[in-house]
Amino acid sequence: MRKTGDLNLVKEINKSIVLDYIRHQSPISRARIAELAGLTKATVSSLVNELIGSRLVQEIGAGASSGGRKPMMLLFNGTAGYSIGVDLGVDYILVVLTDLSGRIVFERRHAHANTSVERVIDALKAAIREAADQAPASAYGIIGIGIGIPGISDGQGRVLFAPNLGWENVPLGPAIEEAFGVPVVIDNEANAGAVGELQFGTGQAADNLVYLSIGSGIGTGIVLNKELYRGSSGFSGEFGHTSIELEGKPCRCGNRGCWELYASESALLEEARKQLEDRGLDVGRLIRLAEQGDEAAIRLFERWGFYLGIGIVNIMNGINPGLIVIGGKLAEAEQWLKAPLLAAVERRSMPYPRAGMGLKFSGLGARSTVLGACSFAISKFFASTKVLVN
Ligand SMILES: [Zn+2]
Repeated sequence: MRKTGDLNLVKEINKSIVLDYIRHQSPISRARIAELAGLTKATVSSLVNELIGSRLVQEIGAGASSGGRKPMMLLFNGTAGYSIGVDLGVDYILVVLTDLSGRIVFERRHAHANTSVERVIDALKAAIREAADQAPASAYGIIGIGIGIPGISDGQGRVLFAPNLGWENVPLGPAIEEAFGVPVVIDNEANAGAVGELQFGTGQAADNLVYLSIGSGIGTGIVLNKELYRGSSGFSGEFGHTSIELEGKPCRCGNRGCWELYASESALLEEARKQLEDRGLDVGRLIRLAEQGDEAAIRLFERWGFYLGIGIVNIMNGINPGLIVIGGKLAEAEQWLKAPLLAAVERRSMPYPRAGMGLKFSGLGARSTVLGACSFAISKFFASTKVLVN
């Protein structure tokens, strides 16, 4: 009996490997998969037939031949199911519906007032329901939900601490799972952003990257050797709390002069509202002022770029990533930020870690986190062999 079980497991593992090649290298032939995976052609053919039967793979017309009969090519069927990704912000909920290849089918941004945990969870459920209703009919339907949160979770879906939301110990994952009956993955929004960039964005060719999420605080997601690095207890990436001013402002983390107190969006707005005597000022308005040539607005962005550069030097020296991706709305202010940011990096970093490192503003706009959240749900779907057995 045991032997049968083991053989089944080997078969499921091989099927996952075959599917992986089809997902990432299609159109691809059976012969090419056999060659890459080191499996016999007969084994690959039998596994491919099962994958076609489970609607995850399709066959299309003949590919190039090296002589003899032209092979049929295999395609991943991305529309066999749909994933929902959520970016839960301090005052917004961004939801997308994607197919299994990460193509966005539906997207909506909602504002929320964060009046209570219950209200935010209700708003999340309504936003997810709306996205789920947009899913076209498919073999697997909604395969899972990923949620990026501005805080830390315990790996079981519980939000341990989300200071900017004022949340502590909230069983968010179980609440959403109960409402929708599909697997839910909760992770930090910067971790999700890093995975979004790795899978779908600027970081697809990178092995080691750091994603900067700059909003009310600064979060960083670290990818090492194409894997998210969470730290030994899940709390990695708190570069926002590295001290850059010895006797600087006190921070809620217990330290003083933390990077995020000078380089977060909140820090920029606090300074801008003070200097421009406009208490309702937001980043969009500040960008419009800079576009009109307002010197105070331009100086504020330049100062922000300088502070961003200071923290980026610490990341470069500590991690030596191949790529740092600056995420979110900041890309819109790139024209004023970039020169002072690069100047600070140039002046203060060591030449060896700097050489060969890419520094880019995200091309995904504000979608790195939602797409990463979708990717978590999709990975979980493909990791569960049960899906493939049935
Ligand atoms: Zn701090």
